Amino acid sequence: MQKIKVANPVVELDGDEMTRIIWKFIKEKLILPYIDVDIKYYDLGIEYRDETNDQVTIDAANAIKEYGVGIKCATITPDEARVKEFNLKQMWKSPNGTIRNILDGTVFREPIVIKNVPRLVTTWTSPIIVGRHAFGDQYRATDFVVPGKGKLTMKFEGEDGSVQEYEVYQFKGPGVAMGMYNTEESIIGFARSCFQVGLQKGWPVYLSTKNTILKKYDGRFKDLFQEIFDAEFAEKFKEKGIVYEHRLIDDMVASALKWSGSFVWACKNYDGDVQSDTVAQGFGSLGLMTSVLLTPSGTVLESEAAHGTVTRHYREHQKGNPTSTNPIASIYAWTRGLAFRGKLDGNQELVDFANALEEVCVETVEAGKMTKDLAVNIYGNKVNHGEHYLYTEEFLDELDKGLQVKLRK
Ligand code: NAD
Repeated sequence: MQKIKVANPVVELDGDEMTRIIWKFIKEKLILPYIDVDIKYYDLGIEYRDETNDQVTIDAANAIKEYGVGIKCATITPDEARVKEFNLKQMWKSPNGTIRNILDGTVFREPIVIKNVPRLVTTWTSPIIVGRHAFGDQYRATDFVVPGKGKLTMKFEGEDGSVQEYEVYQFKGPGVAMGMYNTEESIIGFARSCFQVGLQKGWPVYLSTKNTILKKYDGRFKDLFQEIFDAEFAEKFKEKGIVYEHRLIDDMVASALKWSGSFVWACKNYDGDVQSDTVAQGFGSLGLMTSVLLTPSGTVLESEAAHGTVTRHYREHQKGNPTSTNPIASIYAWTRGLAFRGKLDGNQELVDFANALEEVCVETVEAGKMTKDLAVNIYGNKVNHGEHYLYTEEFLDELDKGLQVKLRK
C-alpha cells in the first residue's frame, strides 16, 4: 500500500508518563505506516522542558503558529511534589496555558460517543462541544475580604482624563467584594473561534450569559457576538442551514440536558469551567474526551486528549504491572490534527484516513473490545481481564489489526 503524501508539516508535542508510552505506539503503529508527513517534533516531556528552561514549549507553540497544526500528548503540569520528584529548576507553568497565550485561541472539548458506552445523560446520543472563553472574569478578578463597616466604590480613570465612579455597596459589617473585567478584543476573538467551529462541524452555536442581571457586562458579550455573527458569519451559516442564538445560562443548562447533542455551546469563562466537567461526566469517561484549541481566524488548530498523563497507571507500569489505559482520546488528538491538515491542504485522502482510524476505535469498542475504564462503565466495578477488558497493549494491538483490515478493504 502506498503511503498518503502530506504536503505540509504537522507539529508533534510529546508528553509524559502513561500517555507518552501510548503516544509512541500510536505514532509508530497507527500513523507512520500509512502517512508520509514531515513531523516537526518537540519534546514537552517534563525533563526536557526543565533542561531548556521551558523554551521548548514556546518554540513548539511558535511552530504550531507557523505550520497551522499541533498534535499534543498530555503533559505534567508541575506542582510542589513534581518539582521534588524531578528536581526541577522551578515550577514551570502549564504548557497548555503557555501555548494558549501564544496562539490566542479558544479551547473546545468534544466527547467521543460510542453506542455501547452508557451515558449518565441518556438523551445525549451525539456530542456536545463546549467552548470555554479562557480569559478574564473571575479568573483575573481582584477579590478581597471587607473588614467592616464602610463604603465600596468602583472607579475607572480614562487615559483622556475622564472618570467614571460607582458606589457599589454600603457595608454595615464585614463581608467580601470583587472587581472583574474582560476586553472587547478577547470577546471578539472568542466569538470568531466559536463560529468557526460551528461552521466546521455544521452545528448550531449557542452563547449563554446572564444578561438579564449583568445588563452591561454580559450584555456586551451578547452584542459583540451578534455583531460579529451578522458581519462575518450570517451568510455562511445560512448556506449550511445552521443558526446562532443567544440564550440565558439557566435556559441553556436546561435545554442542553434535554437536547440530543450536535451543537456548540459558547460559555463564559466560569460557566465553561463548570459545564465542561458536567458534559464530561454526562458522557461517561475522561478517556473519551477530546480537546482542540482553535484560533479566531480558524486557520491554526492544536488537538489533544482532555485527560492528563494518567499517573496512577504509570506507577503500576513502572512496577512492571499491566495497565488498562484508554488510548482513544490520544488517538483522536492525531486524527483531529491530521484531518485539519487535510482540510487546510485540500487532501481528502488524509481526511478519509483520519475518519477511518476514528471508526476503527469506535467499532472495536462496539465489538466488545475495550479498556477497563469503559468496561466499568458498561458492566460495573466487578470486571475481569480477558472477559470484560483488555490491557493497554492488547487493546492497541486490536486497533492496529482493525486498521489494517479497514484500510485493505
Ligand atoms: P488524569 O486525567 O491523568 O487522571 C484522572 C483520573 O481519570 C484518574 O483516575 C485516571 O486513572 C483516569 N483516567 C484519565 N485518563 C484515562 C485514560 N485514558 N484511561 C483510563 N483512565 C483514565 O488527571 P490527574 O491524575 O489529575 O493528573 C495526572 C497528571 O496529568 C498531572 O501531572 C497533571 O498535571 C497532568 N494533566 C495534564 C493535562 C494536559 O496535558 N492537558 C490535563 C490534566 C492533567
